[in-house]
Amino acid sequence: GDLWEFDPAPESAPAHIDERYRLFINGKYVAPKSRKYFDTISPRNGRKLSEIAEANEADVDAAYSAAAKAFPKWSALPGKERGKYLFRIARLLQDRSREFAVAETLDGGKPIKESRDFDLPMAAAHFFYHAGWADKLDFVAPGRTLKPLGVVGQVIPWNFPLLMLAWKLAPALATGNTVVIKPAETTSVTALKFASILQDAGLPPGVVNFVTGAGETGAAVVNHPTAAKIAFTGSTGVGKLIQRSLAGTGKRLTLELGGKAANIVFEDAPIDQAVEGIINGIFFNQGHVCCAGSRLLVQENIATDFIARLKRRLAVLRVGDPLDKNTDVGAINSKEQLGKIRELVDAGIAQGAEIHQPSCKLPRKGFYFPPTLFTGVSQSQRIAREEIFGPVLSVLTFRTPDEAVEKANNTCYGLSAGVWTDKGSRILNMASSLKAGVVWANTYNKFDPSSPFGGYKESGFGREGGKHGLLDYAQLD
Ligand code: NAD
Repeated sequence: GDLWEFDPAPESAPAHIDERYRLFINGKYVAPKSRKYFDTISPRNGRKLSEIAEANEADVDAAYSAAAKAFPKWSALPGKERGKYLFRIARLLQDRSREFAVAETLDGGKPIKESRDFDLPMAAAHFFYHAGWADKLDFVAPGRTLKPLGVVGQVIPWNFPLLMLAWKLAPALATGNTVVIKPAETTSVTALKFASILQDAGLPPGVVNFVTGAGETGAAVVNHPTAAKIAFTGSTGVGKLIQRSLAGTGKRLTLELGGKAANIVFEDAPIDQAVEGIINGIFFNQGHVCCAGSRLLVQENIATDFIARLKRRLAVLRVGDPLDKNTDVGAINSKEQLGKIRELVDAGIAQGAEIHQPSCKLPRKGFYFPPTLFTGVSQSQRIAREEIFGPVLSVLTFRTPDEAVEKANNTCYGLSAGVWTDKGSRILNMASSLKAGVVWANTYNKFDPSSPFGGYKESGFGREGGKHGLLDYAQLD
């Protein structure tokens, strides 16, 4: 009785979702040679949103041919000219940010306030930032320049569809590469809409090509002989597969993979701020975040009080329709992902952890999961070791800083970590002892295009953002 049912999205929704999206190759939208399309579902209500072209090997080949043909002219342009295109792309994205934010939320399920206030501004910021680099690629050493690699193949995940696209395209284009890019199969709409921004910006045909489809299309992108480099963001499992398949090919590779970040709260932490940071760290984007603070390590003597505060905060999170501006936790990206989350939560219960979920009303249609807290978690349990990629926080405790470091580093991943303490010296010690690409102190999930992001260990290698991100798309001349 207390479940809601959604009305279908009103016809007048400002997202301008087409009935069907074709591939984008050589500056034009084209029907796939495969003649196949697949449905993309809105996780908000479980209904079909649109149809997406499924690229086969011949389509991927056409995309690489276009990119190879475009490369000589594009790479020979003065950096300043390439920069102008990037500035234009950034401004056009800003102009259409409302439309793109709604589309991102309809297609992917993330709360509209996040698409509007995070994904869109950050995506535009990435293009602006890299536009500024395009004419400054002689920074490496006086008289020496960075040269592009050639045609780059890129494969991205579904959690930040437009932002991951920006992280991939902006540095590749600034350094003079041309691109074949494959969005994730559940979130291709905004990428294919974005292609129209490239047209409006007058980007020369073939410089960026979009091929859509699932893993098979991804494998065709990765294994195409024309690619000089592959940049992949996604699961550690697929990352390993790609690394194996590229061995000996001479292609460059960067991998941005999974995580199981520790968010560490010391007894002297600013407690109210820490509670907010822990909540944001795990429930931002329903926990579909590679750097999600999915393991809370809290100092034992404050654990009882801290957990009580977390539970109170959990109870007032607004879970539901991602198009509602007040929603904090939106829809789970796909039915498949919902199944994975349920499986791991069931494993947590079976392995003896104590589950806490606030009583919240979930919409009956669409894919939803309540914010979940596990206490009494031990390091050997699956919920402490495996990436859940959902709104699920596992709480562990520690007594000493050394124990905190040991537990935080006791994972195959190493993407990010958080430290909450009043002591500056402790922040510095922790930052150097934690094996993670990013360590936030008294904050979490802070990003900036100038700040390199990337992993240690099985979270991958290579960096995105900043000077280091650019270097991964260039070679020294
Ligand atoms: P996924 O690995 O299943 O898919 C990622 C992309 O790879 C998709 O486009 C998919 O179609 C494609 N793909 C699947 N099989 C392939 C194959 N054999 N060859 C080539 N491409 C293939 O991951 P996902 O479920 O889309 O994304 C979630 C994962 O991404 C999480 O593990 C998350 O931590 C990670 N992630 C990492 C970062 C980072 O910066 N480190 C950022 C976002 C997401």
